[in-house]
Amino acid sequence: MAVNVEVQTFSHFINGKWEPAASSETFDVVNPATGELVAKAAKGSPEDVNRAVGAARAAFDQGDWKNMKPKDRAKVLYAISHQIAANAQELAYLEAISSGGTVRRIGASDILQMVDLFQTLAKFVVEYPYSETLPVPPFPGPAHNFIWREPIGVCAAVTPWNLPMVIATWKIAPALAMGNTIVIKPASYTPLSTLKLAELISAVVPPGVINVVTGPGAEVGEALVTHPMVDKVAFTGSTEVGRRIMELAAGTIKKTTLELGGKSPNILLEDADLEIALPGSLFGVFLHSGQLCESGTRLFVPDKLHDQVVEGLVALASKIKLGNPLDPATDVGPIISKKQKETILTYIEAGKQEGATLVCGGKEVTVPGCEGGNFIEPTIFTNVTNDMKIAQEEIFGPVLSVIRYSDVEEAIRMANDTIYGLAAGVWTRDANKAYGVARKLQAGVVWINDWHMLRSDAPFGGYKQSGIGREMGVHSLDAYTQVKHVHTSMTPELERRNWYGILFGQK
Ligand code: NDP
Repeated sequence: MAVNVEVQTFSHFINGKWEPAASSETFDVVNPATGELVAKAAKGSPEDVNRAVGAARAAFDQGDWKNMKPKDRAKVLYAISHQIAANAQELAYLEAISSGGTVRRIGASDILQMVDLFQTLAKFVVEYPYSETLPVPPFPGPAHNFIWREPIGVCAAVTPWNLPMVIATWKIAPALAMGNTIVIKPASYTPLSTLKLAELISAVVPPGVINVVTGPGAEVGEALVTHPMVDKVAFTGSTEVGRRIMELAAGTIKKTTLELGGKSPNILLEDADLEIALPGSLFGVFLHSGQLCESGTRLFVPDKLHDQVVEGLVALASKIKLGNPLDPATDVGPIISKKQKETILTYIEAGKQEGATLVCGGKEVTVPGCEGGNFIEPTIFTNVTNDMKIAQEEIFGPVLSVIRYSDVEEAIRMANDTIYGLAAGVWTRDANKAYGVARKLQAGVVWINDWHMLRSDAPFGGYKQSGIGREMGVHSLDAYTQVKHVHTSMTPELERRNWYGILFGQK
């Protein structure tokens, strides 16, 4: 007998309350591991965006939130971190059933990262230089000068499906830390965890400080990033949509930060410790089935080590267990959607057509118990040249391109020969060599003998077309403030204000 379980419908979260879409329409949220419908979410429209932005604007303009003392704001940020920790299980579940991230990764990494980010920024907001006094100027006359840092206002965040919660907090935490309000549009594949996060945060902030509107990017996203009452836009996603958002935000000159795609190079030097470099390089590319913007998708291997490295990589990759993300024994979950799976398979075909050699994986697989899911084997190509499509374009799937080199300078040149510049890595036993290579790599983060090691107190963002601005760390607080210079004259006598003579001449 078929059991008819009613799926939950998630509304928008606006002004501290659950609010259905003005149209009453919804869209389906599907588990990428099984193909099953897991929830429905409100299909937003510009009208819903208008309500959310209105609530965020009112919460900002009212003043209590933006004028809160730093030590009180730090308490709020700590309270948010406690909310996340106390509700970790539910958040991890919602994240896993919609994004396909494993509960093992979400529990061991994502939740801790989010808690740590709010706590780190709680420390930073107390020490932040909200007001700096400049020295008395030597000319044209004595004055007191200050630099004040103030919140920007209403922030809009448009977020992707790969790490929905973590990437949302990269925007929510600094926005709230500096006294802004925020409206988030999560990716349509993965709205659930962001909605839950907003509900948890709203328990400790005034209504309207955090709002979420769900629905299609082209409608809800565009209405949000063009809204005249939005002051700042923060986006993570594809470089293509990033370009569009920049164009749209230009209409009203909104402050904009973008975290976009990558094709990150990973260079093995001849003296690398292969015992850590091989699992480390696979950790760098196959975590979350390669659906991470900073994945190390191009591995540069010296001729001398090539065959040994490839043999080792294939042996290790074949041990990675694909499965249901809710099973703690699963190493890697599904691809987010059938469409994305087809895109990845098309890239694999392109690799073969261009003459690369497929040495591992390359096919979609059916996982027992997850027959409706989208799974692709960890895939490794050798004989890749840096000009091939699979070496130049962001695949966002479990595909590693191994590229040989004979000279380190040649490897660095190829590493930098991309439109992207998000992350890079180098493996060597020699720290001096590592720093020498790191200096020459054009990337926002360089890992030496490691990968994916992001920190709440370190900036993350891209060189070149991987983005604009930085998230996390003090840099993220700067990105959510604006700077005001205040001049106070100390020259009350008109006759001593000789600079007025520039206009009035000597009279
Ligand atoms: P997108 O860049 O299309 O989507 C990211 C976010 O932008 C989603 O919330 C999306 O909404 C929204 N969006 C889409 N179009 C617009 C628009 N015109 N105006 C405003 N917002 C918009 O990524 P995809 O999900 O389509 O993935 C495509 C590719 O992007 C991947 O294959 C990968 O290469 C790359 N990517 C990179 C990520 C990164 O972290 N750098 C993360 C995710 C993807 P909606 O979901 O409703 O479409």
